[in-house]
Amino acid sequence: MKVIQCWDDGIVDDVRLTDILRRYNARATFSLNPGLNLEERSFGWIHESREVWRLSVGELPDIYSGFEVCSHSMTHPCLTEVSADQLDWEVRASRDILQGIFRKPVLGLCYPFNAYNERVKAALRSAGYLWARGGQNDESIFPPRDPFEFNFSCHFLSFDFWPRFNDAKERNAVFSFWGHSCEMTNEAMWQDFEVMIEKISSDANTEWSFINDLFTSEFF
Ligand SMILES: [Zn+2]
Repeated sequence: MKVIQCWDDGIVDDVRLTDILRRYNARATFSLNPGLNLEERSFGWIHESREVWRLSVGELPDIYSGFEVCSHSMTHPCLTEVSADQLDWEVRASRDILQGIFRKPVLGLCYPFNAYNERVKAALRSAGYLWARGGQNDESIFPPRDPFEFNFSCHFLSFDFWPRFNDAKERNAVFSFWGHSCEMTNEAMWQDFEVMIEKISSDANTEWSFINDLFTSEFF
């Protein structure tokens, strides 16, 4: 079974997250908003009374080195609500800037706020994207009916994470989860997360995969 994971928003807690992932050779995809990672680290939002800060742009290459990146738009708007010009800029400029920073192809996008419609999907298609992550939990996620509604199995804190994982393993399907590193708000959650990554990495019947590799494989 192939396992994929996707983390959003380019935030400072990803420093700790990527340390853990590297320790267990776990692949992961990070969805980034290059319009929001500034010269210095910057305040993002409050999550459960903790401040969430965004990484500085200069930190991105090292922190995400060896991982996959995809676009999360330039500035994280609801893409369904922006003008045609802004929509075009959000999807094209974000891709171009990320490709410039990381020197590798950016083929996918995660919809900010999971907001998308036919107009947004058409903009991605015409910009040359191959896939976009939708927001529904879905048992059989790959290949998706529509690559611009590529649904994930579940959130990493889902109560039924392991039943879904085991079910996908029995079917030799793709299992995928997503989240934000800032959702780990205490030491116990970080320790649980590390145990989870170690367990997946040491499972002989699973292998970590990048999303681009799924969508560029001969079987897709
Ligand atoms: Zn986001």
